[in-house]
Amino acid sequence: MSRKTLIIGAGGVGNVVAFKCAMNIKSFGEITLASRTISKCNKIADNIEKKLGIKIKTASVNADSIDELIELFKKIKPNIVINVALPYQDLTIMDASIECGVHYLDTANYEHPDMAKFEYKEQWARDDRFKKAGIIGLLGSGFDPGVTNVFCAYAQKHYFDEIETIDILDCNDGDHGYPFATNFNPEINLREVSANGRYWENGEWIETKPMEVMLVWDYPEVGKRDSYLLYHEEMESLVKHIKGLKRIRFFMTFSEKYLTHMRCLENVGMLGIDEVEHNGCKIIPIQFLKTLLPDPASLGERTKGKTNIGVYITGLKDGVKKSIYIYQVSDHEKCYSEVMSQAVSYTTGVPAMIGAKLILDNIWQGKGVFNMEQFDPDPFMEELNIQGLLWKIKEID
Ligand code: NDP
Repeated sequence: MSRKTLIIGAGGVGNVVAFKCAMNIKSFGEITLASRTISKCNKIADNIEKKLGIKIKTASVNADSIDELIELFKKIKPNIVINVALPYQDLTIMDASIECGVHYLDTANYEHPDMAKFEYKEQWARDDRFKKAGIIGLLGSGFDPGVTNVFCAYAQKHYFDEIETIDILDCNDGDHGYPFATNFNPEINLREVSANGRYWENGEWIETKPMEVMLVWDYPEVGKRDSYLLYHEEMESLVKHIKGLKRIRFFMTFSEKYLTHMRCLENVGMLGIDEVEHNGCKIIPIQFLKTLLPDPASLGERTKGKTNIGVYITGLKDGVKKSIYIYQVSDHEKCYSEVMSQAVSYTTGVPAMIGAKLILDNIWQGKGVFNMEQFDPDPFMEELNIQGLLWKIKEID
């Protein structure tokens, strides 16, 4: 029987996933791109046909509705659903996958629309139902989470007997020329950045104020940049799965210009997630802000510069202390010329395609809900080099 792939979400990341699946058509078979706004799917499908000469199908779906999802799944009969809509839709798409026996993959963990809090609890709680349905639920197959988890698993497999500390270091040095814009969904991005920071040390989570902890990291091919400690979701699964771990932290770079805009917006209440009354209508400030800001999908053409995301790991090998740095550098303009999206969408969409490819090609097998570091990292690391995300390792003894 020929393979069928369903992609849900037609934003910046959905565009990259659709392009990359089409470029790996042998693994993905018949591809359908579905989203709330079908015109966005059709635009991507037209671009793929023009650039690659491959036709993909499109459909409209409201992924907040399990009934609509089940109807679409029954019509298309996909082998896998790649969820690159928003984290708010994770649970409905997972439930429809269980109901219809379809493998599931996403790039960001479930977040409740009315609560700026994200955690794996509700997705992990579906493990038994995924097992009973005989399908895989692969969580967080983007770059971070995603590739960063795989880098850690690779380090554990090949370089360490015991990993002691992990620092995840995420730098986007791209410039889109606007005074302020976010590189992916503004609501998700600003909620993440304006929340308290958190890291894990000796079995405990330690909370910090937003942007309270900063280090200067020298990112290869970019240079030294201020990097701020944030909470990031891959830490929740890595503390469970990396043996001997004593500390894990996550740092992201922000320019002074970005931080000044964000502080002003926060101070005037524009990052609020509670409804406010405005001229007789009810609006949610952060959603209104999203309407005003440039669409992340439109930044591709204008963005210049590089991203560098990696993990710096220390630990023991044969009783001797050592450290390694595994990282990946992408160039915004190069990504755009290949798939018409900037590097932040590219570095998320390519790993989503790779995770799905390894499942469809029966290389990553299992039943239940998994995080990336639970599978063999080697085939994923090989695919990264083949599919456009070349990585490097520095051993520092
Ligand atoms: P965008 O906002 O650009 O796109 C989201 C898409 O989802 C839009 O097409 C939107 O449709 C669609 N959508 C939203 N709600 C629904 C719904 N109820 N039903 C159907 N479709 C819906 O986001 P991005 O492409 O930038 O990001 C996609 C995902 O990738 C997010 O979950 C984000 O958190 C994640 N991400 C993960 C990263 C990682 O490294 N792991 C890094 C960056 C992003 P419409 O146009 O109609 O609103």
